[in-house]
Amino acid sequence: MRGARRERRARRLRRPVGSPSVSRIYLSPPHPSGREVELVRDAIESNWLAPLGPHVDAFERELSALVGVENALALSSGTAALHLALTVLGIGAGDEVACSTLTFAASANAIRYTGATPFFVDCDAATWTIDAALLDEAIAGRRRAGARVRAVVAVDLYGQCCDYDALQEVCAGHEVVLVQDAAESLGATYRGAPSGGQAALAAFSFNGNKIITTSGGGMLVGADPDLIAHARKLSTQAREPAPHYEHSEIGFNYRLSNVLAALGRAQLAVLGDRVAARRRINARYRALLADAPGISFMPEAPYGTGNAWLTCILVDPERFGADREAIRLALEAVDIEARPVWKPMHLQPLFSGYPVAGGDVSARLFERGLCLPSGSALSDAEQDRVVAALRSASCR
Ligand SMILES: *Cc1c(COP(=O)(O)O)cnc(C)c1O
Repeated sequence: MRGARRERRARRLRRPVGSPSVSRIYLSPPHPSGREVELVRDAIESNWLAPLGPHVDAFERELSALVGVENALALSSGTAALHLALTVLGIGAGDEVACSTLTFAASANAIRYTGATPFFVDCDAATWTIDAALLDEAIAGRRRAGARVRAVVAVDLYGQCCDYDALQEVCAGHEVVLVQDAAESLGATYRGAPSGGQAALAAFSFNGNKIITTSGGGMLVGADPDLIAHARKLSTQAREPAPHYEHSEIGFNYRLSNVLAALGRAQLAVLGDRVAARRRINARYRALLADAPGISFMPEAPYGTGNAWLTCILVDPERFGADREAIRLALEAVDIEARPVWKPMHLQPLFSGYPVAGGDVSARLFERGLCLPSGSALSDAEQDRVVAALRSASCR
């Protein structure tokens, strides 16, 4: 009874007031569990309206337990988590940091915030994540050129983990530290372990389009309590322990609000359901499009299970009879949102001056790749609409 009421309320919350019955299908909209209002009300009524409080503490504990990493720090964004990760590792001006080129700009921006310089590494066509062999060569190459290479930012793409056994070997060989950009991979696994425990530090995002959301927020996790304690201090303006305001290093205002942490707890409680729903949607797209010529899917790596945050297809324009952009426009014409796969960083005007190892694999994925609506509340009927519109784009 309570459960049914909760579901109805959740459904009402998802539909904007006054929207027609056939509404726009978004790429990855928020999906309330139904407990958000109750927990946010508690945050308000208890008057913990601050970037600290009992919901922040509980959210950190609950996420830490779920990902199996001892220490967690709730922050205002995934980008802030990446920035603090690199900062507490001592990365700064004069250092170089390797980064997956196929990613969202935040991964590389965080490197620039520290004053360090990124260099980009192509992905492996079999996983769409950073190519470990190429990374090995790239670090050696930058070292030979005199660069002080200090760290690697490895990005778990569209909910699929990188091959961390291979990356850890490369990083150990070159004595560089590994940072996991797990913004897209909460709920995924690598060799049976939850995503987030594969590197010295990992960053999650709870932005509105991610698998669970606080409307905006992030979390930094790590096994080393000193690193997380330092990040915690930096996230609150780096106050020294003193009754007055005492500062000896540059701090930031990066903490998560207690109100948003309440939202996060309501969302985290249903993470398992959300992963199952997205994986089901992914499997259903594969089944529905199995006979579509020239359409293939992002491969699932054998070493783990992705959270299927976004389902991505590759379009062979000759075989399908339309290219990726024609399909995107055909979907948009019937009010369905789809997005090209991330434009690689080495092709971005902002990062065009930085070194890149390889680049053709990710450039081709950008040219041919399309992310389809993948929200965990997507109904079969809505998904059928997406598939019909996609097929109609072919001029065959
Ligand atoms: C979303 C995302 C981020 C940034 O997270 P925010 O919470 O939006 O700051 C970083 N890296 C990747 C790969 C992302 O997808």
